[in-house]
Amino acid sequence: MANPSILILAGDGIGPEVMAEVKKIIGWFGDKRGIAFDVTEDLVGGSAYDVHGTPLTDETMAKAQAADAVLLGAVGGPKYDVLDFSVKPERGLLRLRKEMDLFSNLRPAQCFDALADFSSLKKEVVAGLDIMIVRELTSGVYFGEPRGIFPDNEGGRVGVNTQRYTTDEIRRVARSAFELARRRGNKVCSMEKANVMESGILWREEVQWVHDNEYPDVELSHMYADAGAMQLVRWPKQFDVIVTDNLFGDLLSDCAAMLTGSLGMLPSASLGAPTESGRPKALYEPVHGSAPDIAGQGKANPIACILSFAMALRYSFDLGEEASRVERAVEAVLADGARTADLMGPEGGVPVSTAGMGDLIVQALDASL
Ligand code: NAD
Repeated sequence: MANPSILILAGDGIGPEVMAEVKKIIGWFGDKRGIAFDVTEDLVGGSAYDVHGTPLTDETMAKAQAADAVLLGAVGGPKYDVLDFSVKPERGLLRLRKEMDLFSNLRPAQCFDALADFSSLKKEVVAGLDIMIVRELTSGVYFGEPRGIFPDNEGGRVGVNTQRYTTDEIRRVARSAFELARRRGNKVCSMEKANVMESGILWREEVQWVHDNEYPDVELSHMYADAGAMQLVRWPKQFDVIVTDNLFGDLLSDCAAMLTGSLGMLPSASLGAPTESGRPKALYEPVHGSAPDIAGQGKANPIACILSFAMALRYSFDLGEEASRVERAVEAVLADGARTADLMGPEGGVPVSTAGMGDLIVQALDASL
């Protein structure tokens, strides 16, 4: 049988730097665990624009559709700020998400013990935190019609966006949250504003329907999204999986992510419907951008990108044990005090470069055998 395939789109700025460290980990799995992947690489974002005049060619799009998983670094940079909206680097990323129909965005908020002091919250509130926010990514108010800025009857203007969700859109993302919960703490909390929005009432009813008919074994609760935001910062450990719409998910996932400290630590996955292989369409990427302020200096933290690959092991390749191995290796390196510049807090640590951090994680993987 052919090896599973991975398409790497390293992108711009620190994207290629952090991806170089992921490639070391992929290589390690082939060499030391007999788990080989067929890796191909291509261009996205500004680097694709420089060569092809577009941030994502049709050929690259086709490769992404065919790959078992796509790993993306980051796109964008000041050089491209002047470009027309239609060819901006971000359009490449948006096209990938849209054409692969990646409706379920997974944003874990996990606090490594060694970094618990890094959070703006008290250590006991965040130490050991491990929650997952599932955000609906392809519908809701960011896409609903009508939208636009129109003249009103009084000679002024009116800005319109429409929150719109169908039964199917709600049910499919709810299923994705229940499936995840079964692999974790078996609890889902669904968040909306059913008190003031009809789309919220439908959301609540449909999530409940999926639960009652398909996942009665999973514990389900509902919470208004504003109350959920308060609970997230008051006592986040009460949650396991949170499922919510595109707009609330945008806010709540950023809020949850910051519970754990640096942007350089945050992975994500965006999943679509299962393909013939049984694997979902999938794109894995760090939450951070291309960080032009530190690009090319060996200062970038590669852990967000490495943890994104760990998510690929778990959610695309059914290698949960190996994903945990990577996460434990990261934990061990941090516990030993290794710190890229972004992780250097008042308590200090051993300064390491991007490549230095990758090498230490590979050494920790060796030690895990
Ligand atoms: P950014 O995430 O690139 O950087 C924000 C700050 O965090 C910077 O100070 C940066 O140095 C730091 N940082 C980010 N990642 C880091 C890492 N791995 N290690 C250490 N420090 C890190 O956000 P920005 O500055 O607002 O945007 C820069 C460019 O990236 C823009 O062109 C923006 O459009 C683009 N962007 C792309 C994505 C993406 O590709 N998904 C996401 C956000 C922003």
